[in-house]
Amino acid sequence: MTIEEGLANVRKRIANAARECGRDPAEITLIAVTKTHPPEMMNEAIRLGVTDIGENKPQEVRDKFDKVLPVRWHLIGHLQTNKIKYIIDRCAMIHSVDSIKLMDEIDRLAVLHNKDIDILIQVNISGELSKSGIAPEELESLLEHAGALSKTHVKGLMTIAPKAEFGDPAIHFQNMKKLFDSVKSRKFENVEMRELSMGMSGDFEAAVKCGATMVRVGSAIFGARNYGQPSA
Ligand SMILES: *Cc1c(COP(=O)(O)O)cnc(C)c1O
Repeated sequence: MTIEEGLANVRKRIANAARECGRDPAEITLIAVTKTHPPEMMNEAIRLGVTDIGENKPQEVRDKFDKVLPVRWHLIGHLQTNKIKYIIDRCAMIHSVDSIKLMDEIDRLAVLHNKDIDILIQVNISGELSKSGIAPEELESLLEHAGALSKTHVKGLMTIAPKAEFGDPAIHFQNMKKLFDSVKSRKFENVEMRELSMGMSGDFEAAVKCGATMVRVGSAIFGARNYGQPSA
């Protein structure tokens, strides 16, 4: 499978899933997840029309950024406060915010760099132990805290569903959509519930059918990742 074929296939499947539930495919942003892949592969995808890319490691964003054509960068993996400096000027959105401490530290750097940045709050909707993200009960306190930030803006929610062998991911996506809609109907300062980031190679069609506005797809576009090789 070439990148061109992988991309065309994923786009078609997103469009079909959207139409099946009466959604406009244009409402869904495809984030091509390029972790472990070299800049040349990323540039090929960008030449084929990819507008948004996702990386899970801040160091990889830092190391690849200058070798990649202009594109919107998303940090989708766990972020430690001491690594924010690698991405603050490079990423348009951070999907993996899971604490008030992290919100404050992102905002401190955003102010320092005079750069506005969008964030999503990562929710562990399934309660699975191994997954990062906050419990749904904690969401309100983080959204309340958004009002105290100046250059960091909450734009929605993100989740990672457990692998299909742990049950139908659609159940978790439906629960996320319910949570998203319930928050959307309320008013929090500096919070706009616009993006619902969910769905990966194994489950993005289910996520689209449950209301995802962003899907994060890697291996279905680029093939399997080789973690044994240096990443950049
Ligand atoms: C790697 C990764 C993805 C993409 O995974 P694939 O299964 O290759 O599509 C999506 N989201 C996050 C947070 C990831 O780390």
